Amino acid sequence: MEADRRVHVDVEVEFGLSSISDLSLDSDSTSTSVVVPAVARFSRDPSGVPQLRFFAGGWEGTERDIIGFDIGNVQIFQLGPVQSVCMTGQLDKSKENIYSRGFKVQFKAEEESRAFHQKFKQWKEEFVSQEPRVSNGALATSRSKFDEKIEASSAKMYFHYYGQLLHQQNMLQDYVRTGTYYAAVIENRADFSGRVVVDVGAGSGILSLFAAQAGARHVYAVEASEMADYARKLIAGNPSISERITVIKGKVEEVELPEKADILISEPMGTLLVNERMLESYVIARDRFLVAEGKMFPTVGRIHVAPFSDEYLYVEIATKALFWQQHSYYGVDLTPLHETAFQGYFSQPVVDAFDPRLLVAPPVFHIIDFTKVQEEDLYEVDIPLKFTAAVGTKVHGVACWFDVLFNGSTVPRWLTTAPGSPTTHWYQLRCVLSQPFFVMSGQEITGRLHMIAHNAQSYTIYLTLSAKMWGPGAEQGGILQTSTGKFDLKEPYYRISQPQAYQVSQDQQQHPPFQPQDLNIQPQDIEETELLEPAQNSGIDFS
Ligand code: SAH
Repeated sequence: MEADRRVHVDVEVEFGLSSISDLSLDSDSTSTSVVVPAVARFSRDPSGVPQLRFFAGGWEGTERDIIGFDIGNVQIFQLGPVQSVCMTGQLDKSKENIYSRGFKVQFKAEEESRAFHQKFKQWKEEFVSQEPRVSNGALATSRSKFDEKIEASSAKMYFHYYGQLLHQQNMLQDYVRTGTYYAAVIENRADFSGRVVVDVGAGSGILSLFAAQAGARHVYAVEASEMADYARKLIAGNPSISERITVIKGKVEEVELPEKADILISEPMGTLLVNERMLESYVIARDRFLVAEGKMFPTVGRIHVAPFSDEYLYVEIATKALFWQQHSYYGVDLTPLHETAFQGYFSQPVVDAFDPRLLVAPPVFHIIDFTKVQEEDLYEVDIPLKFTAAVGTKVHGVACWFDVLFNGSTVPRWLTTAPGSPTTHWYQLRCVLSQPFFVMSGQEITGRLHMIAHNAQSYTIYLTLSAKMWGPGAEQGGILQTSTGKFDLKEPYYRISQPQAYQVSQDQQQHPPFQPQDLNIQPQDIEETELLEPAQNSGIDFS
């Protein structure tokens, strides 16, 4: 084992500052950007990463967090004997650009400034020495596929989240989810018995335990977060099957396994199927670990999209921005920010369970075949939309949900998150347009749902919906009314705490809710042709 070459520096060090100012606010004359007094503190985050944080206030108990950086992401320049600038890169709100952010730091005295810079150098050196090195001392350059495309701060938060038992429990307590996985594995024992299994993103290890219960010869449970340690503990506590499971802590893009797998099991689905970009890891695991013709549980996924009408939801979102229409909020005119706030609220996809009677037309769907799709294909998901309105109403946007198929050789099983089906922790997702439009019954609605992956493990969604207008001009071929929206899947509006109308009104339904089963697609049908077909209408009679 290589000796620990790290320089050990203090646990926490503080420096009193006479002021700190945000350079990005300097040009804006309306904001007060200078904070007096302030404190600079070198400390560590829970995983030991050295950080530099700035606080407002000069004494304990009264401080307020201004900004913090990982030491590795910050550079400091001395402007003068008592003045310096801290610079860092920061993702903008749309996660598409990195902008520099700067803070001007004013020290109380020259010695303080000198001591601060010395500490910074020492902490930076420690940080750099923690980075992987190759034998000649140069920094290692080989980054995994995951690191190349995902921003480090996003990955850090992501694995921190999954490292907490509470969040694993939340998934385990989604009985629709976990129960369907259990049934899919146990009812398809033949696919697991005597086989080598890889659990991609094992979390608590639950799916590895199911696979072992179904007679797997050996299960490799790969988990990148700290949860890997808990999974080991949980598995060790189930001694009848624990010798057949090995937990491997690391990313599926990086770890090596001693043998190939006959079957992969995973739960890589995020909101709208693709959020979190874990499907890409599932596909990379397939290419790295699965034997040719090996099985994948789940096998395929489908994203369903349908227009909906929900005036109540629309008004709720528009109302949030009304706050910014006040001309005299404590004497301040807030209206310059109204448009920004309005657009901001409408850029959040809404996550909740809704009554399927709100749908205006049968859904279209887009299939992703996990056994065939290439990782790069998931960087951009483009779904052409074509609906026939079943009722004359106002269209407020599109509702989306997904399902996945476990194409077991004994019993194929679907796990669905459709509205009207038992609610899961994914709920459904709705993209609400700031400009709704009217349609008549029988009218065609066309458009596109275009999703582009970003490096914060999510997608920017571009929605376009068009319908031909009636009234003057309609006879000459019609005038197309088009409404568009841009949404960040990373920043949804969780509307779950609201009373769920669907649950109380289930027995008074006018239309039967959509069930993926109603789409009448049998797993065996999803072989060659359908997978290649573009999204198409399900053909359900929605009247
Ligand atoms: N299989 C568990 C957990 C599912 S949540 C269950 O069904 O309950 C997804 C898990 O995958 C998380 O614990 C997350 O940390 C892990 N994960 C995500 N991307 C990963 C990657 N690239 N490599 C390894 N683990 C990953």
